[in-house]
Amino acid sequence: MILPIVTYGHPALKGKAEIVKEDCPELEKLVGDMLETMKAAGGAGLAAPQVNRNLRLFVTGPLGEEDPGDHVFINPEIIQFSGLFQGMLEACLSIPGLQLSLLRQEHIRIRYQTLDFSWEEKSYSGWSARILQHEYDHLEGILITDRIIPERKRSIKSFLHKLAQGRAKVEVPYPTIQ
Ligand SMILES: [Zn+2]
Repeated sequence: MILPIVTYGHPALKGKAEIVKEDCPELEKLVGDMLETMKAAGGAGLAAPQVNRNLRLFVTGPLGEEDPGDHVFINPEIIQFSGLFQGMLEACLSIPGLQLSLLRQEHIRIRYQTLDFSWEEKSYSGWSARILQHEYDHLEGILITDRIIPERKRSIKSFLHKLAQGRAKVEVPYPTIQ
């Protein structure tokens, strides 16, 4: 089932999300719906707060060229950052119509639980590491607009204001919640 995506200005995108407990009802269904929603919306990843669920959980598509995708990260922690900071354009399904150049570190090591709640640890680099840092930020209530310099933020202030009020003229091919 395709879920509506919460957009900029909605309180679900702010604040720290809560730990996913093993007795979380219909977790598998939620993960399946999030993967379906992410693909339908053309996203590289999708975090639970973006579908109005206050849970520390996100899904991603392929991480690396040969990777078929469909990853789920439950209660993730980024336990190590390394390498150079690199700038690259990022977009967010919750902030349609905006691309921002963001500095992120090149390599990360992430610890997380799988759907059966066993712990795993993996390292990622480059674009994959960027996707994971972006989705992890959502669990902390941090958006790409929080990671830019004040001058840049001022330049998009009126667009963000309109977006939050539902007055921005942006058409998206997926259902949203204002
Ligand atoms: Zn996002």
